Amino acid sequence: MSRRKQIYEGKAKILYEGPEPGTLVQYFKDDATAFNAQKKAVLDGKGVLNNRISEFVMMRLAEIGIPTHFIKRLNMREQLIKKVEIIPLEVICRNVAAGTMAKRLGMEEGTKLPRSVVEFCLKRDDLGDPLISEDHIHTFGWATPGELDEMIAMTLRINDYLQGMFGGIGIKLIDFKIEFGRLDVQMDNGVTAHQVILADEISPDSCRLWDRETDRKLDKDRFRRDLGEVTEAYTEVATRLGILKEANNKSAPKLSVVSNDD
Ligand code: 5GP
Repeated sequence: MSRRKQIYEGKAKILYEGPEPGTLVQYFKDDATAFNAQKKAVLDGKGVLNNRISEFVMMRLAEIGIPTHFIKRLNMREQLIKKVEIIPLEVICRNVAAGTMAKRLGMEEGTKLPRSVVEFCLKRDDLGDPLISEDHIHTFGWATPGELDEMIAMTLRINDYLQGMFGGIGIKLIDFKIEFGRLDVQMDNGVTAHQVILADEISPDSCRLWDRETDRKLDKDRFRRDLGEVTEAYTEVATRLGILKEANNKSAPKLSVVSNDD
């Protein structure tokens, strides 16, 4: 791995040059950060779990026609992805008030929203990823009107599908954050066009997931709020999704997987 060219290092992932042009290798670290990296920890096994969970989710979404950057999982911590130009927005979709929305609007966490809400934040760590309006996006050219429409439509479709998927395993999807990228595609007439595709990851790092019966948090809020048993919660999500063997449920970092292609 050390001989590969590192393209980018984020808080939870590293991107390396891929084996073929137009590809990258996405490596999932065990590092956890919160509150704009003011809080940091290493959570044994988190990267392995997020690699598996994100693979699972991206594959299910591809099956319903959402274009994604995911190509294939390479090993326990790495996946091969399409190289895209990341659109500098965090797209957040909420079904239940929690986190910054509950705080900003003075709502009780857990209040069901009348309908799903899509929000945008500018991806700027130095500014703490500020909430922005669609008008900001148009005015500053962070995405074209067509790209914005596509991102909103895909986000709502993803939300519908994931609510059903998690609902089927007794988990409420409270909210989630996704990112999109632009992929160059060659048209028949030789012109290069941009396609907007889902990028980054979808995992308990980027979603709020609550147990349907108990409202127990099964996501990164366990780390943010010092609730403990973080990897145990991620392991439970993976186990309920059928990714991990049942036996691992109580021993989070021991991650033997259902398929043995690692
Ligand atoms: P909030 O704005 O309430 O903090 O977050 C809303 C949703 O987006 C939560 O599911 C949260 O995990 C996710 N989210 C917001 N910002 C980030 C971020 O910078 N990184 C990750 N991984 N998730 C985020």
